[in-house]
Amino acid sequence: MVVPCYNEGLVLRDTTAQLVATIKQLDKAGLCSLEGSGILYVDDGSKDDSWDVIASLCADSSLVNGLRLSRNKGHQAALIAGLEAAIQRSDVTISVDADLQDDIAVCVDMMRLYRDGYHIVYGVRSDRSTDSSSKKFFANSFYLLMQRMGVEIIPGHADFRMITAPVLKELFRYEERALFLRGIIPQLGFKSASVYYARKKRQAGETKYPFRKSLSLAVDGILSLSNKPLRLITYLGLFLAGVSIVGVITIVLTFLVGGTVQGWASMMVVVAVLGGAQLLSLGIIGEYLGRVYKEVKRRPYYHKQEFTGVLFRQK
Ligand code: UDP
Ligand code: MG
Repeated sequence: MVVPCYNEGLVLRDTTAQLVATIKQLDKAGLCSLEGSGILYVDDGSKDDSWDVIASLCADSSLVNGLRLSRNKGHQAALIAGLEAAIQRSDVTISVDADLQDDIAVCVDMMRLYRDGYHIVYGVRSDRSTDSSSKKFFANSFYLLMQRMGVEIIPGHADFRMITAPVLKELFRYEERALFLRGIIPQLGFKSASVYYARKKRQAGETKYPFRKSLSLAVDGILSLSNKPLRLITYLGLFLAGVSIVGVITIVLTFLVGGTVQGWASMMVVVAVLGGAQLLSLGIIGEYLGRVYKEVKRRPYYHKQEFTGVLFRQK
């Protein structure tokens, strides 16, 4: 089980108790083996005592392992670091948030589906009643926009999912830096299914995804998976060119009949609209260019500082 954590010192003990209980339950049901299973916490450069808590949990239980990143790189990067560490060491991974807002009871269904030959099982929220109304609105708009932009994305699914080793192997053939997992994984193919659950409220601590970070994740998701915004610029350009042809004909005709007036208002409107459209278009092109710049440098996505746990002693 791969669990990214950022300043989660308050929840880690309780989370560990619940995850260990789940693993034991899976073991009893014959869906995994206790010796072959474990929890991998990825400490995403926490500023609280998360790493100390992970180290002490690791000393108490052989099921707990930890990977510490040298600084905060965001949930996606932490999850990718964890999955990359797991790739050589596991047949199946389940990724879940440290606050266990996602109902880990469905892990049993995930593992049953694994046994039935499924390679990817998406955890999907059956409702958003625990979200604030603004988060609900933005989340729904985001999934709708993504679908309109031609991105294959599963509404209500974030990063709670089961994937098998062959899927992980294929996933890491995508060499791009900005991997937006929930948009890339559906592209991989493989036999997949969804399980549904009601998302709980956070038990302790606060959300690490305020509006600004969520918006940035949404923009990354769209720009890394779709070229449609660039296409829209072309359409906007064509539309404005069409309008301007009509405008030019009108102006010439008015001039010929001698009715030209000092049209300050209409002039200002045209300047404002064109200026706005041009800046917006340049901005969108700039966003893509910035991402290309980031990709060509091929800088590492995260930095590992230290490890703990049997998982890392085996290899
Ligand atoms: N997280 C992380 N790095 C970050 C921000 C968040 O690893 O920079 C982790 C966090 O510890 C949690 C998960 O990502 O396990 C989801 O974050 P959170 O629960 O705060 O988001 P929300 O559920 O409110 O959307
Ligand atoms: Mg959460």
